[in-house]
Amino acid sequence: MRVVLISDIHSNAVALDAVLAALPPYDELWCLGDTIGYGPEPNRCLATIRERAIHALTGNHDLACLGAVSLADFNALARAANEWNNRQLDPDLRAFLEGLPARLTVPPAATLARASPRDPVWEYILDPATARANLRYFETPLCFVGHSHVPTIFRMASDDAWDFRRAQPDEVVELDPNARYVINPGSVGQPRDGDPRAAYAIWDTEACTIQFKRVAYDVSATQQQMRAAGLPDLLAERLAFGR
Ligand code: ZN
Repeated sequence: MRVVLISDIHSNAVALDAVLAALPPYDELWCLGDTIGYGPEPNRCLATIRERAIHALTGNHDLACLGAVSLADFNALARAANEWNNRQLDPDLRAFLEGLPARLTVPPAATLARASPRDPVWEYILDPATARANLRYFETPLCFVGHSHVPTIFRMASDDAWDFRRAQPDEVVELDPNARYVINPGSVGQPRDGDPRAAYAIWDTEACTIQFKRVAYDVSATQQQMRAAGLPDLLAERLAFGR
């Protein structure tokens, strides 16, 4: 089975369209959360995920847009964008988002945790110590996370040797069946690793590989939508830099 992994779309439907158009044949699409917040098209992104994703998670920005966590936990720009996103939501799409979990297990091989298995809504996994500390909070060989917006792979071998690093575009990683992994496919709608292209990954369960992918999209189109909506200009500008 080929599983497409996407995360952190953040209401950037132009980027999401580019990813979907670039996909090779696949079996399932899984979304690791933060489908909305920051960007200009929350309803179109949610409708697409509802239609296409077999599994989908909720994230801290999703919850903030729903009013389910305090907006005080966000900086002023993110807060303004979350409030704007909240006002746009169609009632049926709001109900869909409210029904999503922050973590789930897909037996036998995968755990999906929005941020980390230990703290599914808030914890960033950006260093090996945090990744290692999370290993005892899930049972499966693989754990897929989002939240940091940086494509990363953490590998813990059976002899406790480990490797934690950023994944490179188009890199294909062969998965060691005796190791455990924490894998972040990166962000579709607001990459933060210096590469503005939309990020995603494909897990091939038969070949035992993860492929990290990037696809260019029309950043200026999303920026124009954001400015027309009155969203904070800095949030539009950062898309061009992948920061
Ligand atoms: Zn995010």
